[in-house]
Amino acid sequence: MLSIIVCIKQVPDTQKAVFDPKTGAIDRKSTDNIMNPDDLHALEMALSIRDRYGARVTAITMGPPQADDVLSEAYALGADECVLVSDPRFAGSDSLITTRVLSRAILRLGAFDLVITGCEAIDGNTAHVGYQLSEFLSMPLITQIHEFMIDGNHAIIERLYGHEYQKIRVSLPLLLSMGKNSNRVRIPRLVDIKECGEKPISLMTLNDIGGEPGEYGAAGSPTVVIKTEIFSHTRGRAVLEGGIEEKVDAIVHMLKKQNILRF
Ligand code: FAD
Repeated sequence: MLSIIVCIKQVPDTQKAVFDPKTGAIDRKSTDNIMNPDDLHALEMALSIRDRYGARVTAITMGPPQADDVLSEAYALGADECVLVSDPRFAGSDSLITTRVLSRAILRLGAFDLVITGCEAIDGNTAHVGYQLSEFLSMPLITQIHEFMIDGNHAIIERLYGHEYQKIRVSLPLLLSMGKNSNRVRIPRLVDIKECGEKPISLMTLNDIGGEPGEYGAAGSPTVVIKTEIFSHTRGRAVLEGGIEEKVDAIVHMLKKQNILRF
């Protein structure tokens, strides 16, 4: 049976979030935590592969203890097993160290055929973790997936390639990165929502994944955020004088100056 690991992240609902204008940080109390939208598509991909070929689907998240909410949601949607990777010594981890934690935790879970991530998290927005995981786990990463099939120990994948579809054959194990338009996410059944809170969530800490405390959290993270700033769009207002030809010339000139019109 295939073993599929899905990386899901709990994120603040940035659509509803209020930002502190001074620090640029999200006021976490102003919004709910949700499953990162791309990760719903990653989980859907895993569940649809299980529906077709049979598989065990494990959802994994790194985060604070309350991140177990997204794992309960993963159970409601149909995950077979859920793992929370959490330790106060992971706090302050940048995307590189998040990947280090996730890759070590994934390797502790045993043999796997597929790891599936979302493309990008809506709070960090780096889109680093999928690419970095493929390096850390030494396996190919396929993005922009349109069709997916299993053929023995290979996957046959049709992927969007510019304006074309590219069909590729690639050996397992494999990492897939899923975006918003890749599939249609299923709706959990009421009975599964009711029961999901009672299902067991395994906990992994630093002691379980190994390594030294200095390799994790803020201490291990090479990224230093110098400043976070909210940018705002302001409308420029211009009144053009002269006849129609002069006005058109002036508009073309302005658009070229701002690189909106090139030729
Ligand atoms: P992306 O790379 O955009 O995510 C792509 C995909 O990777 C996601 O769709 C998901 O499938 C997977 N993924 C990403 N993150 C996780 C995760 N945690 N678990 C499972 N799957 C995941 N964040 C904190 O929560 N607490 C902190 O204390 C903290 N400190 C930070 C300190 C610094 C200096 C920096 C730069 C960042 C910090 N962050 C912290 C943010 C954290 O590093 C990022 O959220 C994380 O590295 C993932 O990056 P991203 O959000 O851009 O994910």
